[in-house]
Amino acid sequence: MPEIGTETSPIRVAIIGSGPAGFYTVSNFFKQKELSVELDMYDRLPSPFGLVRAGVAPDHQKDKSVIRAYDKSAANPNYRFFGNVEYGTHVMLEDLKEHYHQVIFTTGAPVDRNLEIPGEDLTGSYSATEFVAWYNGHPDFAHLSFDLSQESVAIVGMGNVAMDVARILSKTPKELESTDIADYAFKNLLESKVKNIYLLGRRGPAQAAFTPPEIKELGELYDTEVTVRRDEANLDPASIEYINNNPDKNVEKNIGYIAKYAGRERKGKKKLLTIRFLVSPVGMIGKANKLVAVKLVKNEAFKSNDGSVRPRSTGEFEELPVGLLFRSVGYRGLPLPGVPFHEDWGTIENRQGRVCNGDGEILQGLYTAGWIKRGATGVIGTNKTCAQETVECMVEDLHAGKLFSREISTRDELSGFIRARQPRVITYEDWKKIDAAEITKGAAENRPRVKFTSVEEMLSILDP
Ligand code: NAP
Repeated sequence: MPEIGTETSPIRVAIIGSGPAGFYTVSNFFKQKELSVELDMYDRLPSPFGLVRAGVAPDHQKDKSVIRAYDKSAANPNYRFFGNVEYGTHVMLEDLKEHYHQVIFTTGAPVDRNLEIPGEDLTGSYSATEFVAWYNGHPDFAHLSFDLSQESVAIVGMGNVAMDVARILSKTPKELESTDIADYAFKNLLESKVKNIYLLGRRGPAQAAFTPPEIKELGELYDTEVTVRRDEANLDPASIEYINNNPDKNVEKNIGYIAKYAGRERKGKKKLLTIRFLVSPVGMIGKANKLVAVKLVKNEAFKSNDGSVRPRSTGEFEELPVGLLFRSVGYRGLPLPGVPFHEDWGTIENRQGRVCNGDGEILQGLYTAGWIKRGATGVIGTNKTCAQETVECMVEDLHAGKLFSREISTRDELSGFIRARQPRVITYEDWKKIDAAEITKGAAENRPRVKFTSVEEMLSILDP
């Protein structure tokens, strides 16, 4: 039998998930010039790109330019897209073992973390994940509705997702009209009565998880002013000591912007965005099952045993009246059938991308990359090096003969098998037709695209 990975017997890999980690797996494989490889990418949606399409904020179009590189990878004849095909529903691990030498899971971290506080289930309390997916037109979230007739909204967390949510709630229709925000979300935001937006961080300015461009951008909003209480902008002794010992340019810049916003006088703009530090929600207060306020405790910062600066309660409480609240405290992955999962971390158990069981034993042929491998951290580009690490392991294992099986079906047999399981499989060519229809619709409105927000709408483009 010819050696696997050669022209007569290419290595065949299934990639589950078509977000950045999936596409960087593709580009990393195609960079291996000495290797013949066939890559099949699966996604449960007809549209590819994961969070680049459904997570990146619609007013951050530049961040979506990575799609050009993904398109280039997809143009390689040894790449195939099987959209509208779900792992665990249409294809199972046992099926993939018959058709592939290796499988890599790049399914991301699609769900949010909870605050685990009383009242979290009140109407009006949501996860940022839901809101972000809603305004981005993700088909699973398009049916949701958010009561934007509320005047005061809180966002819990100080990461870049919280920044995105704050910006979308703060922007004027003019600032959003030329984006690819979902049509229904734009219409809802047009009628928004939101006037007060609070960003709530449990630690101080030196520990904020946002990055300098994002905090800077908040100061440039057309009809929203940003402010920070002077007492909360001042650095606590534990943070000063930490920064002196661990200088960091981004932290320095963040602190600079916060100092600039501290105690700013109001200039008469319509909305006010207040950034609060060293406060933690401890409960949500409702009336008739509807959120009316969030109870906060004032924290103080202290140096923990590992040297980091942590928050602890001072026992001083306040109630902040809000009718809408988004928790934005990080994402976590979901377990996949047949794949060992670390419940606490919300990731697939792995070592450098090689899937292992709870005892650390490597499971031959199974790999992972991206947020489901390392947790929801880093920017889009971080997935490039993450995927590279895994692909290096995959190539090394191929050379060591560590594969599911040496004998697998032919490429055509595989296509037939998938079509039998899911007759409405979407190819990359199909996706390009859907993509073109969205872009054409968008051009008429001077927007990058008008998104189809249901699977039926997407499929209807292919069966006019
Ligand atoms: P993140 O960066 O991990 O931020 C999570 C925030 O939640 C932190 O401020 C954290 O505070 C806070 N938090 C966690 N548990 C909490 C609790 N129980 N109570 C109160 N606050 C709590 O997560 P993210 O914002 O979801 O972003 C995920 C990743 O995507 C990040 O790497 C982010 O940079 C990236 N992203 C990038 C962009 C961009 O480049 N423009 C846009 C969106 C997302 P502590 O620090 O105290 O834990």
